[in-house]
Amino acid sequence: MEFTFNNTFAQLPDYFYSRTQATQVKDPKLIIFNHELAEQLGVSEDLSDQQKLAQVFAGNLTPTGAEPLATVYAGHQFGGFSPQLGDGRALLLGETVTKQGERFDIQLKGAGPTPYSRNGDGRSALGPVLREYLVSETMYKLGVETTRALAAVTTGEEVARERLVAGGVITRVAKGFVRVGSFEYFSSQGNQEAVKELANYEIDRHFPQAKNADNPYVAFLAAVIDKQAKLIAQWMNLGFIHGVMNTDNMAISGETIDYGPCAFMDEFSYKRVYSSIDRNGRYAYNNQPQIGQWNLTRLAETLLPLFIDEKEDGKVAVAIAESLLKNYQQQYQNYWLNGMRNKLGLELKDDTDADLANELLNCMEDNQADFTLTFFYLSQLPHYKENIEAENQLQGIFKQSKQSNAWLKKWKKRLDLEALTDSQRMIKMRQVNPVYIPRNHQIERAIRAAEDNNDFTVFHELQAVLQKPYELQAGKEAYMLPPKAEEVVHQTFCGT
Ligand code: AMP
Ligand code: MG
Repeated sequence: MEFTFNNTFAQLPDYFYSRTQATQVKDPKLIIFNHELAEQLGVSEDLSDQQKLAQVFAGNLTPTGAEPLATVYAGHQFGGFSPQLGDGRALLLGETVTKQGERFDIQLKGAGPTPYSRNGDGRSALGPVLREYLVSETMYKLGVETTRALAAVTTGEEVARERLVAGGVITRVAKGFVRVGSFEYFSSQGNQEAVKELANYEIDRHFPQAKNADNPYVAFLAAVIDKQAKLIAQWMNLGFIHGVMNTDNMAISGETIDYGPCAFMDEFSYKRVYSSIDRNGRYAYNNQPQIGQWNLTRLAETLLPLFIDEKEDGKVAVAIAESLLKNYQQQYQNYWLNGMRNKLGLELKDDTDADLANELLNCMEDNQADFTLTFFYLSQLPHYKENIEAENQLQGIFKQSKQSNAWLKKWKKRLDLEALTDSQRMIKMRQVNPVYIPRNHQIERAIRAAEDNNDFTVFHELQAVLQKPYELQAGKEAYMLPPKAEEVVHQTFCGT
């Protein structure tokens, strides 16, 4: 197992982190190793030595060149400020640079307590490890910015949650794990120097073009805002609910991070919430865009002193931040609408497109239609010739066909403006409308088999299908289907 580490975060002053070693576990076993990702990262591996891979990815063996550390951050959790959080069960091993020059953080999650564990055990249960592996890797395959999963292991130890459950460790890979909450930590301590150092670090790493701007920190904030607008629009276009959009779970890099009680929707509803701890629906599906803006406002507040020089009035800094944050709404709307146009097979821009998309969502909600299947079946539907089977398939997921028929008529009229042939349009639509998503009941099935029977075949089969979410795979129809009434998962848990 060879990483070529090239660690920069560990060179920052020590108030950004605590150097911490993983805690040994009894009997680690490899569940899965992501060869494709390992290759992209330039990690060389001895495949014959599964036991060694298990030792490394459980934290029992520290690879050469790793400088394990846990980072400190704060965060607004459900709106309330927690002045000190930090990596309580995550350990940054180091950074590696790909042949293409891209830098990635390698982190173990669940490798034992750190100085930021508070009352937690620093461990992960197996269920959330499998869930994160499946969902994060699918997000990547769907084309969404996300942390990835390099490996998952069982520890051979139990962790105490609502009951005793098997423990696991997941190895996560990100362009960067620095969060909005990382800035909040230093800002709330009045350590503006550290905020500036962190901003410089993030600019160097993710937004080097900002250095050419009149004020690099303003350009930095603008770039972070743009990335979040794009990311959240993609979530919305896919029916994805993050579930815990606390500021400590929002990455500056614009990647989806911290897969806890996240979920893809089956039946569409604007107000859908799965997370067991989100009692007021703060992070409901339809609130995500505004929450993004709220979180970015918290980031902007930490950067204000960097927007002006000492002689200038603080109001100037606030005005700059406000104008950038105001743009977020329009940026988000543009990303979302372009995403919806792609989903509906529209290449031209027509003023009625937003209404058309919203009317479909309303119709889906009224008819309890499955989010993913609606768009997939739409992408199977020819316009210029009749295809009764495809029509029936689509109509079958709407409770009443009157409303959906009316919408389909409008859509087809709109398609008349387009130059694409049916087959061209359908090919394009299938590139953005997945056939398979990690459905909650399928994830649950995989977790149950692993936890209850030590059987990982269900997990592996699901993982294999989700490698190609946009491709219809023969014999895998069962993975497309929404849950039966008795299979519906109503709540998801952090598993912390
Ligand atoms: P989350 O909501 O999962 O992002 O976690 C919020 C905070 O709690 C983070 O600082 C985590 O590191 C910490 N945390 C969550 N679970 C554990 C655990 N089992 N042990 C220690 N810290 C934890
Ligand atoms: Mg977190």
